[in-house]
Amino acid sequence: MQLGLYVHFPFCISKCNYCDFNSQVAPAELRERYLAALIEQLECRVSGLTYCPDGQVSSPTPDALHITTVFFGGGTPTIYSADDLARVLDTISSTGKLDPGAEITCEANPDTVDADKLDALRAAGFNRISLGMQSLVDVELQILGRSHDSDTALAAAATARDIFDNLSVDIIYGIPGQTADSWAGTLAAIIALQPDHISAYGLMIEADTPLFEMVTAGQLQPHDDDTYADLYEQGQSTLAAAGYEQYEISNFARPGRRCLHNLIYWRNQQYLGCGAGAASYLDGTRSVNVADPQEYCDAAAAGEDVIASEETLDKPHWAAETIMLGLRTIEGVDLRQISQDCDIDLEKEHEGTISALAAEGIATYSHSVLRLTPEKGFLLHSEVARRFLL
Ligand code: SF4
Repeated sequence: MQLGLYVHFPFCISKCNYCDFNSQVAPAELRERYLAALIEQLECRVSGLTYCPDGQVSSPTPDALHITTVFFGGGTPTIYSADDLARVLDTISSTGKLDPGAEITCEANPDTVDADKLDALRAAGFNRISLGMQSLVDVELQILGRSHDSDTALAAAATARDIFDNLSVDIIYGIPGQTADSWAGTLAAIIALQPDHISAYGLMIEADTPLFEMVTAGQLQPHDDDTYADLYEQGQSTLAAAGYEQYEISNFARPGRRCLHNLIYWRNQQYLGCGAGAASYLDGTRSVNVADPQEYCDAAAAGEDVIASEETLDKPHWAAETIMLGLRTIEGVDLRQISQDCDIDLEKEHEGTISALAAEGIATYSHSVLRLTPEKGFLLHSEVARRFLL
């Protein structure tokens, strides 16, 4: 069974103003405890299929897992030392399940890495770094509440570029106050770094975040939908002109540099998630671990299961989810193929919707493959996906 492995590190130096991810600022003691619990879970779940906090694998299936991608995400994994992260990766390697050519990514924030640390991560076996730069305009970084400035981000990226053959960077558009000119400046500086992969995310103003409070209080003005769309299109055209292929709504890559781990999610393939709040999708069942790191550690110490919830999708829901995820990518979805797997004639069921989407230039439909158009369809993805709910 081939799968991707996600490992979650739920800690950060400080909390960004826009962040609603499972991350928190925590004392070193909890971070240490968490690392031990995480390693324990990895030993159990990667060696066998059954999580058992006491280290007893009840039903080992030697060839059950064949890991083709590993992704250390957060939070900020690099809040831990390179030695700690190497120990976690060694735990995975020592199971013998890791494919020798696996893509092994570590997310990093600019103020948590230097040349020595990046060298050590490379030596430990990580072959891809994903650096959270977000903007190269200091006032925008301050609005986002990032813990680094633009000089720190640029220096970290230049160092990472020297050390890693495969470098990805995250940037954000739609920041209050961001203009076409400031966005152009960030894009130009990012392109000059020559990363292999760029994730350009639209800023979401989530409830219960400091950014939401600032917008609600009238201290910050969010962009209207048209301006937001203009910034998105500006990113698309600028990155395309620089040789980056858009292969997903928010992701751009040089040839051969698409993120293999994220493609597993978008193709609705199998993955195992370890760590607080991490999700898994195995044998048609989706499960989510206990989200709170303290509770996660307590459960592990008490010998209890860390899985908080499980759900097995029925065929109509599986089909709708597969379409929703696949339409995020430039590959699109093969409706005939999905129909075979769910025993529903999707082409017939959605005939009217498919024709309408094609007529409006939102999607193309050819040889049973439905694809959203990058120009018009990607921005309407959520609305289109809703039309395929059965
Ligand atoms: S670094 Fe990332 S995970 Fe951490 S607080 Fe900021 S946005 Fe959230």
